Amino acid sequence: MNPMEVFTSQALDQFGSQASREFHRRLHEDRALCATRCGDCADTAFPPRLHCPKCMSSNIDWIEITEDMQATLYAFTTQSRGLRFTHPDVIGIVEIPEVGLIISPIAGTLADLELGQALKPEVIDIHEGLSFYRFSLA
Ligand SMILES: [Zn+2]
Repeated sequence: MNPMEVFTSQALDQFGSQASREFHRRLHEDRALCATRCGDCADTAFPPRLHCPKCMSSNIDWIEITEDMQATLYAFTTQSRGLRFTHPDVIGIVEIPEVGLIISPIAGTLADLELGQALKPEVIDIHEGLSFYRFSLA
């Protein structure tokens, strides 16, 4: 197994917050990319948080980011191999109307992409026991 993958799993177990562990559990076991939404002020947080960053309420609901939310490509670039990404050929900022702007790996090559393209979320396996997300062309 890639040492970086072991490091990522162990770091999540030892140093991850309750919200980040639940986020990764939902990714891996439920195959669901999730954000949290405040039950009091409706502010949405990604990455998920157990307290609302806007009003500090702990009345939080988990919401799944689905293809129906009509995500689009807001910006994109390339970078060399990074800690969190399996093959970070392209990373981007994805605009999701119900969620906001989130950073994500993007499947495909730079030549395939244009700003404003429709995207869909995917859950990918990094290794046994750990999954991550990316967006691909819808
Ligand atoms: Zn709130």
